[in-house]
Amino acid sequence: MFDWWRKRSRKKLLQTSFPKSWRGILVERVAHYNYLNGEEQGHLEELIRFFIAEKNFEGCSGLEITDEIKVVIAAEASLLVLGLPAFQYKRLQSVLVYPTTVVLPETRQRVFSGGPSIVPDRQAILGQAMLNGPVILVWDAVARDARHPERGHNVVYHEFAHILDMRDGAADGTPELHSAKLFREWVEICTKEFFRLQERTAEGKRTLLDSYGAVHEAEFFAVATELFFDRPRQMRKERPELYNVLASYYMQDTAARKDLHKNSS
Ligand SMILES: [Zn+2]
Repeated sequence: MFDWWRKRSRKKLLQTSFPKSWRGILVERVAHYNYLNGEEQGHLEELIRFFIAEKNFEGCSGLEITDEIKVVIAAEASLLVLGLPAFQYKRLQSVLVYPTTVVLPETRQRVFSGGPSIVPDRQAILGQAMLNGPVILVWDAVARDARHPERGHNVVYHEFAHILDMRDGAADGTPELHSAKLFREWVEICTKEFFRLQERTAEGKRTLLDSYGAVHEAEFFAVATELFFDRPRQMRKERPELYNVLASYYMQDTAARKDLHKNSS
């Protein structure tokens, strides 16, 4: 779809008001929605409507796609791009949703084996993102993560971070950065933090970032993104440089949001 056509359809879409039942789902099911200010909530609601209108949701293994499924996934995917320029997910056409953990066909290659930017996640597959392909998500994991940000895991943030990372054609843990200065900082800090995570993981030490981030730079960016939106205050406190480069990239100061993190230590 061309951008001008997309802009026209988006304008039309906004002539009706945001469905009340969808707002109820956001309040009840998407923890982070409640920490946004009014302006941010309004912007997020616009992005949710665009996402739902433009992407094809497909239920797999008998799952029936409901408004709740669409709104929760669209909200979390859109939260990532709240501060970014429009059309970040332009190339994404479909979101495939399974009811529970799936085993994917073996023909799909892993990103770190040098395959074409395909990223299966964790031994039990909860999600997957592909370059020029669909995003695959497991609904029971999505629903659980959306309600429990204090755990620091969120499969939607994770997979959509991969989509942002792959916009430039490479799943290398570096998304499109807005300036040469930020790029230099990003490379310096993320390299340092990635090796630190690898070292601590190898030594069996406790890490704030999920140790899964140590397997590849792309996974590092994805798990850092999960933490940035789920446990930002703790991240800012313990890994301030990493927090700051993520805040500069996402153009959001998640740790400054009110009550964001009241249930976690
Ligand atoms: Zn991943």
